[in-house]
Amino acid sequence: MVPIADPPLCSSSLSSLQTLGSDGVRITMESALTARDRVGVQDFVLLENHTSEAAFIENLRKRFKENLIYTYIGSVLVSVNPYKDLEIYTKNHMERYRGINFYEVSPHIYAVSDNSYRSMRTERRDQCILISGESGAGKTEASKKILQYYAVTCPASDQVETVKDRLLQSNPVLEAFGNAKTLRNDNSSRFGKYMDIQFDFKGAPVGGHILNYLLEKSRVVHQNHGERNFHIFYQLIEGGEEDLLRRLGLERNPQQYQYLVKGNCPKVSSINDRSDWKVVRKALSVIGFSEDEVEELLNIIASVLHLGNIQYGGEDSGNAYITTDTQIKYLARLLGVDGLVLKEALTHKKIIAKGEELKSPLNLEQASSARDALSKAVYGRTFTWLVNKINVSLAYKNASVIGLLDIYGFEVFQHNSFEQFCINYCNEKLQQLFIELTLKSEQDEYEAEGITWEPVQYFNNKIICDLVEEKFKGIISILDEECLRPGDASDITFLEKLENTVGGHAHLTTHKLTDGKTRKVMGREEFRLLHYAGEVNYNVNGFLDKNNDLLFRNLKEVMCMSDNKILTQCFDRAELKDSRRPETAATQFKTSLAKLMEILMSKEPSYVRCIKPNDAKQAGRFDEVLIRHQVKYLGLMENLRVRRAGFAYRRHYETFLQRYKSLCPETWPSWQGKLADGVSTLVKHLGYKPEEYKLGRSKIFIRFPKTLFATEDALETR
Ligand code: ADP
Ligand code: MG
Repeated sequence: MVPIADPPLCSSSLSSLQTLGSDGVRITMESALTARDRVGVQDFVLLENHTSEAAFIENLRKRFKENLIYTYIGSVLVSVNPYKDLEIYTKNHMERYRGINFYEVSPHIYAVSDNSYRSMRTERRDQCILISGESGAGKTEASKKILQYYAVTCPASDQVETVKDRLLQSNPVLEAFGNAKTLRNDNSSRFGKYMDIQFDFKGAPVGGHILNYLLEKSRVVHQNHGERNFHIFYQLIEGGEEDLLRRLGLERNPQQYQYLVKGNCPKVSSINDRSDWKVVRKALSVIGFSEDEVEELLNIIASVLHLGNIQYGGEDSGNAYITTDTQIKYLARLLGVDGLVLKEALTHKKIIAKGEELKSPLNLEQASSARDALSKAVYGRTFTWLVNKINVSLAYKNASVIGLLDIYGFEVFQHNSFEQFCINYCNEKLQQLFIELTLKSEQDEYEAEGITWEPVQYFNNKIICDLVEEKFKGIISILDEECLRPGDASDITFLEKLENTVGGHAHLTTHKLTDGKTRKVMGREEFRLLHYAGEVNYNVNGFLDKNNDLLFRNLKEVMCMSDNKILTQCFDRAELKDSRRPETAATQFKTSLAKLMEILMSKEPSYVRCIKPNDAKQAGRFDEVLIRHQVKYLGLMENLRVRRAGFAYRRHYETFLQRYKSLCPETWPSWQGKLADGVSTLVKHLGYKPEEYKLGRSKIFIRFPKTLFATEDALETR
């Protein structure tokens, strides 16, 4: 089915709509007014009542009903997941957007892709495309569409073909190891991803580089009901050849594995693990993994499953011992370690105190959590190794770059923990960047056009970023301090310290500090942050453990002795000699975010905001409550306000004149003088009042949509 075209009257397409709709058909069937009623405006800045959230959502709804999933807010693309295949990603569509001005065709992810590409080529400036939205909103699909667009439309050569293949094939590999079925998304990315696509001087894609953020390692050992572990485990079990499985000591039944049964969801109707296995195997070889490397990689994946099946018994003394020797046998072989040493390490802990090594037995609970910590560490580090390996295969120097950021959006659940805290902190940082860069680019444009800058009022969320990340008194510092403190430190003492240190902060409340009204809705173990997008309550349970992310020393030692070549790269002996405490998870994340911000700051950004229309993963369902929530947490109304604070519409003189010249006898059929004079003559003839517009060096700026609509209507009724 071909989605219908956007009608005229949308700022973004004024110059070409006379001839071309999004399906390439002349739009002459209905008047502009009725079309606007039916499918809304394709740029939110043209909404009559731009401060009304209801009007915003109504516009989204109209368009969604007509399969028009894309809408702009100025240059920001808003996308609503259709949950069905629309015929809008064909080669034809790619061609239609290629080299065409952003505003001349209907909103599309290809328009954003092309615009970034052309800016990179013509302005020689590195670009980045930031994709945000909650889980299931379509971020990863959007990033894949962008990558495909470049793969198809950019110049190519033989050598480039290999890189293109590798770039494209890195997706199935990363998804196999980093994605999982969750309640929200059957193919949910459980890590944040920033990928540079590198282009040579001819504009051909020649390389890439990936940075990964905060893989959800806890999924390796536990899944909620209805969710799965990472895809790769099921792919291997379902798709692995007989002799491979025999070698790995695996059975072809996911239900045999403790790490795969927690969610009670071995099969997913939208996923074919067996064929995905083939895709992944092929992708690994395209990327350049040798057979040996693949074998070692799979040894590790199988080891994690065997680790999960290790069971403990408890002695009378309370000390744990291992009851499942077969697993140890397989583990020893697959990991290339001494079985007895491993067994010992899984039941004892070794600490160095005053220069002396002390070994003490673990009880049942400690032993299981040591085992799980090992599984998480092994999987997490292997994932990072995998990303590095892909990077090596994509490496290229001296390139222009378009970066793609596909990262978790704001998360607000019933129960929010350490992970949501990190994710939402990340979103605060991105919002800060967005504000700085958007306002800056508005300002730059006004300056370039010689128009007086009118300051825009906005909420600067730096205060919240500081609250989280400031040295000594930020939340992360306080958490780290508790993690380091020997003795009675616990999640609750962390909460108390928060109260004592930053309790008075305007953006933080806790149970103790709240008034009678809020106290009811806040648990004793919670603190609440007032984020730029709204309030989120965090439960401190598990904060210390997750932040510490500890792996006992003797387990590290065993891994360092492994003769699996991947593991020897993941567990470095130098780490054992280093007596400093490893950085906590939150601090590592903070550091990597700071680096990400630096990378993004050096580039020209474009934004894609993804919205999930319903929780049922169903086509055609527009759940207003859910959508309103996302509009809020994506900061779209604020975005629109900033964009509308100045001028709703701006266009190059040439484009403007071309479209409206027929409305004025002096500019029709053509204007011979300077373009600016032509536009000036035209708008005076149309009766524009001085406060309604400004003329810059190369563009006209129109303050209100209604001015433009009147002109459009004049064109229609001419
Ligand atoms: P996110 O990365 O934001 O969590 P995904 O990109 O994985 O979400 O999208 C979730 C699912 O929604 C996809 O697996 C796909 O079925 C569907 N989907 C997303 N975007 C589109 C689109 N543009 N067209 C059709 N289906 C889509
Ligand atoms: Mg994703």
